[in-house]
Amino acid sequence: MAANIIDGKAFAAKVREQVKGHVDRLKEEHNITPGLAVVLVGEDPASQVYVRSKGKQTVEVGMNSYEHKMDADTSEADLLAVVEKLNNDPTVHGILVQLPLPKHLDEDLIINSISPAKDVDGFHISNVGLLGTGQKSMVPCTPLGCLMMLRDYHGSLSGMDAVVIGRSNIVGKPMAQLLLGDSCTVTIAHSRTKDLPDVVRRADIVVAAVGRPEMVPGDWIKEGATVIDVGINRIERDGKNKLVGDVDFASCAERAGAITPVPGGVGPMTIACLLANTVTACCRANNLAEPEGLTA
Ligand code: NAD
Repeated sequence: MAANIIDGKAFAAKVREQVKGHVDRLKEEHNITPGLAVVLVGEDPASQVYVRSKGKQTVEVGMNSYEHKMDADTSEADLLAVVEKLNNDPTVHGILVQLPLPKHLDEDLIINSISPAKDVDGFHISNVGLLGTGQKSMVPCTPLGCLMMLRDYHGSLSGMDAVVIGRSNIVGKPMAQLLLGDSCTVTIAHSRTKDLPDVVRRADIVVAAVGRPEMVPGDWIKEGATVIDVGINRIERDGKNKLVGDVDFASCAERAGAITPVPGGVGPMTIACLLANTVTACCRANNLAEPEGLTA
């Protein structure tokens, strides 16, 4: 069986189009332009690439993009002051502090200083709690993107067996909460899981978020299962640099019913969902109806 390839690049373009439609309406009917502020501390090259890409896509959908670049030795007090200013700025509807932060800064403290209503990354402890209790929250972008693709492919996920490999706060745990919210029977597997192949073989939906290149082989996959590969791993093969996921694409695609590729699967959905969260935050801040299909 050859799996259907879930095209995250095309799906993300569709989400951005939807976001742009809502932004246009907010501007025309309410004279409001959603604004996203991104704070970058230090010069981590990967973070610089992400921030540039976020800024570019924010402007492309018609939103205002504000970038705050701060030196690597910025003090906690100075960073907290910038976040506080953005919290109080009515033109800013979403705030994202790019992670990882330099070691001397307390990430939890900084993230929890962001106003939960503007926390478009969904990492604030209030949003984590709201998601965990099935209440309206800001949902972390990468798991939200995975959920959107799964809903689009399957329609209802109710009653499906889902296995999430990885228990990080950024991907694994919120992913599991979202699947539970859609009435899946959810297992979270991790580095201490006893018989991972056996656990994965039971799954109708496998979400791999580990960070280990191609660790899931095809023979772990139940015939016809849907495989969502969150992993982004840079490897060298045949003398060339290559990007691969956490699943072995070729062998998993032989058994899966559907699979996301790397690159071009989950990756592009993350920024699209950041834009979606920003427009949602803007609507909520202005007591306007939320855009449909862009939240969990
Ligand atoms: P993390 O390092 O915080 O968490 C990895 C998880 O994998 C841990 O919970 C750990 O228990 C589990 N794990 C480690 N070894 C394992 C093993 N042998 N068997 C089973 N589980 C194991 O990573 P993260 O931030 O959740 O990211 C995971 C991957 O997803 C990385 O490759 C990262 O680059 C990628 N990622 C992609 C996007 C995107 O936009 N597509 C966003 C975030 C993360």
